[in-house]
Amino acid sequence: MPRPVLDRLPRYAAGKPPAAVEGLASYKLSSNENPLPPIPAVVDAIARQTDFNRYPDPLSSRLRTVLAEFLGVPAEDIVTGAGSLGALNQILAAFAGQNEDGKPDEVIYAWRSFEAYPISVGLAGAESVRVPVTADGRHDLDAMAAAVSARTKVILLCTPNNPTGPALKAAETEAFIRSVPADVVVVIDEAYQEFVRAGDAVDGITLYRKYPNVVVLRTFSKAHGLAGLRVGYSVSQPGLTQYLRVAATPFAVSQIAEKAAIVSLQNHAQVVERVQRLVDERERVTAGLRSIGWDVPDAQGNFVWLALGAESAGFAELAGAQALSVRAFPGEGVRVSIGEVEANSRFLRLCADYTKASATS
Ligand SMILES: *Cc1c(COP(=O)(O)O)cnc(C)c1O
Repeated sequence: MPRPVLDRLPRYAAGKPPAAVEGLASYKLSSNENPLPPIPAVVDAIARQTDFNRYPDPLSSRLRTVLAEFLGVPAEDIVTGAGSLGALNQILAAFAGQNEDGKPDEVIYAWRSFEAYPISVGLAGAESVRVPVTADGRHDLDAMAAAVSARTKVILLCTPNNPTGPALKAAETEAFIRSVPADVVVVIDEAYQEFVRAGDAVDGITLYRKYPNVVVLRTFSKAHGLAGLRVGYSVSQPGLTQYLRVAATPFAVSQIAEKAAIVSLQNHAQVVERVQRLVDERERVTAGLRSIGWDVPDAQGNFVWLALGAESAGFAELAGAQALSVRAFPGEGVRVSIGEVEANSRFLRLCADYTKASATS
């Protein structure tokens, strides 16, 4: 029989592919993927690789060397994983689960936030403590600090927050870290770090340098457009990293994924240029929505959040009829990824039509 916790876990609802609609190109705006393929140098490099009869380097040593230089941190402080989700599972496996007294440890995170969190926390054997985000989609850091108990082992901060969009500010995040016990691990999930343009936003690497209980999570899935290859990493000081290495899944990063990540970093200017195009589109979409009266939270990732409440599922259906797949969280809101220019324009037209229809009905 499976562990009882499995019955209590939500199912991860991956973004659906768009439905085909006669006469319209379909666009998937439901998984926060990069609409652009990996940069050509990456595609070339992995096409030439053939050494798959061998296991990959379990320590991803070459990638960690390149990352260490890129980030200005010791390679020893980096632990890779199968996506940053794999890296997160390693953190939870090392620091949160069922305690020696048979009771679950507690893991605090904002809600709504990344939908993988409750699943990863539950599978680790720990208990989720969810603290509602504010009306404008931000972490309520005071309430999160107040939720810390003797059982709290890990706190997850998601910045920018998926699905609502705002980034944490540097000053509030540092004050928060100082206010929680130093033996609680604070994870800063920066999956969308490259898309942030808010001047006062937190930088996890700065905080990792100062605080031995901070772990930063980053990924090649979003900005680098390598979601399908599964490569991400955590950065923390040796006091934590020593345990993450014990918990790490052996061979989690394949040699293709490692090679792709290295070549993408070596061509970083191209990645930055593509990210900027998406940021420009994000700004166009949020400005367009606000100009027709939609109240969207500050969007710092590659997605926007429509707090449509009870209308969320209906709106997603209308989008589907326009060959756009979006991610509805029924009763709460709809997350729409920034995609191709044509997809974003069609989404804006849909919102304008939706506003007109609601005004006349
Ligand atoms: C997409 C995402 C991830 C990254 O997942 P990978 O496992 O790296 O593909 C992590 N955290 C958040 C909040 C995300 O939205």
